[in-house]
Amino acid sequence: MNPIPSDDTPDTYAAFRDELRAFAERECPAELRAIVRSNQKVTRAEYSAWQRKLAARGWGAPNWPVEYGGTGWDLQQRYLFEEVMAEADCPPLYHHGLGHIGPVIMHFGTEAQKARFLPRIVDGSEWWCQGYSEPGAGSDLASLRTAAVRDGDHYVINGQKIWTSHAQEADMMYTLVRTSTEGRKQAGISLLLVPMNTPGIEVRPIPTIDHWHHVNEVFLRDVRVPVENLLGEEGGGWKCAKFLLDRERLSPATVPRLARLADHVTDLLRDRGKTAHGASQHVLLEHLYLAQAGVMGAREMLLSAIQEEMQGTLAASKSSALKLYCSELSQQLIGIALDVAGPTYASRLVDTVAPDEDDAEPLRQLIHTYLFYRSRSIAGGTSEVQKNVIARDIFGA
Ligand SMILES: Cc1cc2nc3c(=O)[nH]c(=O)nc-3n(C[C@H](O)[C@H](O)[C@H](O)COP(=O)(O)OP(=O)(O)OC[C@H]3O[C@@H](n4cnc5c(N)ncnc54)[C@H](O)[C@@H]3O)c2cc1C
Repeated sequence: MNPIPSDDTPDTYAAFRDELRAFAERECPAELRAIVRSNQKVTRAEYSAWQRKLAARGWGAPNWPVEYGGTGWDLQQRYLFEEVMAEADCPPLYHHGLGHIGPVIMHFGTEAQKARFLPRIVDGSEWWCQGYSEPGAGSDLASLRTAAVRDGDHYVINGQKIWTSHAQEADMMYTLVRTSTEGRKQAGISLLLVPMNTPGIEVRPIPTIDHWHHVNEVFLRDVRVPVENLLGEEGGGWKCAKFLLDRERLSPATVPRLARLADHVTDLLRDRGKTAHGASQHVLLEHLYLAQAGVMGAREMLLSAIQEEMQGTLAASKSSALKLYCSELSQQLIGIALDVAGPTYASRLVDTVAPDEDDAEPLRQLIHTYLFYRSRSIAGGTSEVQKNVIARDIFGA
């Protein structure tokens, strides 16, 4: 069954879609939507203001259970929410809290942890970052060495994290630490919730090719965290980490945002295709149609994955397949856009692109997006790692 409403969509969904659209157009400022449309950086303040409005409307956590501030929406409603918000160029929901650590706290957390952390994720007042990767422990995450040693009613953390997105603006970091070196390396890992203002934490930006500040190194020196910030059992961090990674790879917003990107590339090709230098329009059109068909396929895959997630039957390989496919599609689409722009633009990169041309700004943003999207096949687990997960599922370990 195709869970997406078709032409005979019941009135309930048509009315729901209208309600979402009206809310987005009324409540999300036009300037912010212009920023999202042109792929410029949305600040934390802008994200939080939008999240507050969603939360006030009861839509702060569309995919969470009602008891934790969720909506109780069915599959169609969840997807429609993401689709309408993407079409209206509203900022995506901030994933580190809502998509990543929130569900882990719900599943493994104490009642006190749920009460302390979940409401502030829903209303956008507290921001999280993910301290998993370390130098030497990315794909092979279980090799991580950042150590936490119990000292009375605290853990004392020493070590280094790397590629930590948003660490410079986060209030909290969920981080994997080694609490034991005995037995299998996975068995000695624990998950700690660390306030970023704890003494001993230093955040250093990592420059990236797109010139935005996304990622950081995080140094931890004698960082003291109360034991009540341990999530799950000591030594049970690997189970939490895998629970989280499976969901990280299944982001409901990915496909609607890809569809929006496909719309932008279609517009660009219509406006500029005839003047592109690098490739003829019919070749680019063929690539674009194939990518659009890919987006439709990804949508079907996403819907069945969300349905399985809701039923508790989601296989890790499905999230990995979706992550792999969407990363490739996003790079294909932005690659087509760059072909449309032509080599003059492509060769000038971010800061120096054609300032004399009327449409230089959109093209500059396009090149920025192209550069940023190179990371799509690395962040959240590389494409090779996703292929390993899929292969293990099909052929066995
Ligand atoms: C923009 C961006 C944001 C990120 N944000 C975060 C974040 O917020 N928090 C966080 O913890 N991490 C974050 N990461 C880190 C990301 O998860 C890692 O970069 C990724 O897991 C790869 O690890 P690595 O960089 O150590 O590369 P490595 O693991 O060293 O891999 C190097 C190469 O070897 C390949 N390879 C490795 N092992 C295998 C294998 N078994 N089979 C086949 N090929 C293999 C990889 O595919 C890759 O091509 C981010 C990364 C980027 C680029």
